[in-house]
Amino acid sequence: MKPKVAFFSFSSCEGCQLQALNLEDQLLSLLDIIEIVNFREAIDDKLENYDIAFVEGSISRYSDIPELIKIRNTAKVLVAFGSCSSQAGINAIRNRLRPEEANAMVYGDRAAWVETGHAKGIDEFVKVDYYLNGCPMDRREFIRLVKAAASGIPFIIPKLPVCTECKLRGNVCILEDRNTLCLGAVTLGGCNAICPAYGHPCVGCRGILPDANIEGMAELLRHHGASDLEIEHLYAMYNYGRISLLTARAASR
Ligand code: SF4
Ligand code: SF4
Ligand code: SF4
Repeated sequence: MKPKVAFFSFSSCEGCQLQALNLEDQLLSLLDIIEIVNFREAIDDKLENYDIAFVEGSISRYSDIPELIKIRNTAKVLVAFGSCSSQAGINAIRNRLRPEEANAMVYGDRAAWVETGHAKGIDEFVKVDYYLNGCPMDRREFIRLVKAAASGIPFIIPKLPVCTECKLRGNVCILEDRNTLCLGAVTLGGCNAICPAYGHPCVGCRGILPDANIEGMAELLRHHGASDLEIEHLYAMYNYGRISLLTARAASR
């Protein structure tokens, strides 16, 4: 029996599901080892019975919670799919404001009808078996995870920073060379340092490493000319759900 795979989406742009769909031929070849039973981007069918659930998006409404718990109770393996789901990601920028303020900015005089509150990663509500980090998630990791989960083999992402991959690629360090503020030293690698490889800073989309020296990183950024506000904004872009504003402020002093 092939394991049944389902995709679900909460507050998100659905870009991670699109990334999976963009695999095209590789996705078709995965159908030799899995059966996709719920994938709004690609099929109309929906089955209530599945083994592996990929959950995209942050939890930002009370009504999301029972739905998420139902998915957890059904799936044998639950995967946080992308940074919105893993760490609340870019959605958590709204957490700087009170929900009413954020809703008023987007929905104007209809804000009172909107239920949306602060955005949270799914592991604040349910146990997560695996994380596919990144905005969007990395397609190579997705394939590796599907194959591992279908075979019952653990899926492991080495806990190395982006800087390690950046050095291995032989990139010029844009933080050292150009004072471009980069979070590679405290961010989980696995993306092969793709942003610095193209001259862009790492903004932490794969999440801050659990044992990262946040304060040390802030000190280094300050040494390269960053203001407190710039450091705070950089940390908050993808990791507000993990690093509170207070921590970021304290780190930047
Ligand atoms: S992680 Fe990024 S690409 Fe994926 S759903 Fe969230 S915003 Fe979209
Ligand atoms: S460019 Fe960024 S990721 Fe690369 S070595 Fe420098 S700080 Fe690290
Ligand atoms: S370099 Fe940083 S921002 Fe870019 S994909 Fe990797 S983790 Fe995300």
